[in-house]
Amino acid sequence: MTIRAANCCIAAALLFARSAAAETYHFGAIWDGAKVWKDACITTKADRIETVGPCTGASVDLTRFTAIPGLIDLHTHMTYVLENRVSQAGRNAAVVYLAQDNARKTLETGVTTVRDLGASDYADIAMRDLINNGNMVGPRMFVAGYGLQITRGRTSTPNTADGPTEVLRVVRQQIGAGADWVKMYGSTGSGRDVTGFETFTYEEMKAAADAAHALGKKIAIHTYGPNGARDAVRAGADSVEHATDMDDETIAEMVRRKTFYVPTIDHNRYYVDNYRKLNYPPTAVNDLNDYIQRNLETARKALKAGVRFGMGSDAVYTMFGENTRELGWFVKAGMTPEAALRTATTAAAELMGMEKTVGSLKPGTFADVVAVDGDPLSNIDVVIQKVRWVMKGGTIVVDKTKP
Ligand SMILES: [Zn+2]
Repeated sequence: MTIRAANCCIAAALLFARSAAAETYHFGAIWDGAKVWKDACITTKADRIETVGPCTGASVDLTRFTAIPGLIDLHTHMTYVLENRVSQAGRNAAVVYLAQDNARKTLETGVTTVRDLGASDYADIAMRDLINNGNMVGPRMFVAGYGLQITRGRTSTPNTADGPTEVLRVVRQQIGAGADWVKMYGSTGSGRDVTGFETFTYEEMKAAADAAHALGKKIAIHTYGPNGARDAVRAGADSVEHATDMDDETIAEMVRRKTFYVPTIDHNRYYVDNYRKLNYPPTAVNDLNDYIQRNLETARKALKAGVRFGMGSDAVYTMFGENTRELGWFVKAGMTPEAALRTATTAAAELMGMEKTVGSLKPGTFADVVAVDGDPLSNIDVVIQKVRWVMKGGTIVVDKTKP
């Protein structure tokens, strides 16, 4: 009871801190998503940015730092918690409570917006709404409800669908429940299982993509292997997730259709680092490392071909707080730090269809601002390791500027 009350009041205090008057913040440099302003100011009013440019008048001194737009993580599972020893009947309520920690750790990485790709019992919708209402502190969430899966077990669950007709029904149920995105599991592979057998057929993927688009929503299709990727792209997926070993033809089709690739290379690194905690056998480590290498190789090929990339961590359990490590893999695959940064800002906003509100610092966008210690355009580790201050929608949610 005490903890609950404390949480409520922190949120209330943060909301109170957002004043209606204009506030000015002075940075050593600002990367606004397109260009660099040296020694410049950002003025915010309520939850939006009013101006970016030369400083005039009084301001908050953040001149030791470089400002970048609030980051976007395109693939999270915010409601996946490792420890949940609550009785089955109360699990869903407990999940939303425990996941607050994931939300807070995500903000500390400079991520102020997430696309959350799959949850049970609509815990993601509850979290999104609580955050938007100011009851919970966390990044702005865009959620998918249940990710669609084929029937594999004995019992069907609310997310299973077989055949285009059932796919239509489940897609419409998620959107009806309030999902912002549709998520479909187009292949096997998850956790220590790195197989990539195609699950849904092309016809089922097409039914899902068409149903989502008809209702004004976008669809992300998970596929660990190349066959699911080929069919997901042809079916009209807006983004393909993971997608290792893609062939040249699929990659060329992604370029032609401007399909986004969200490779999520780093999440298997997390599984390798934590295999004991996750109760994976030591043999899983070899499989995961092999998958990481092929995933990176596929990213290199896709990058050379001109595919558009988005940064997604696929963060689950205790990976929150490591959301942006994926950017390091992107630089390893051949991107400049600036190009990597775009995958979590301007490009990610484009995939979300939200270029006017997130992913850049310009008049009218949400005042989502991250202060980093160093030059993010010459060293991506500055973004990954040195976030010192985060503002989300005009409210300061992280402040590590004091020594
Ligand atoms: Zn995922």
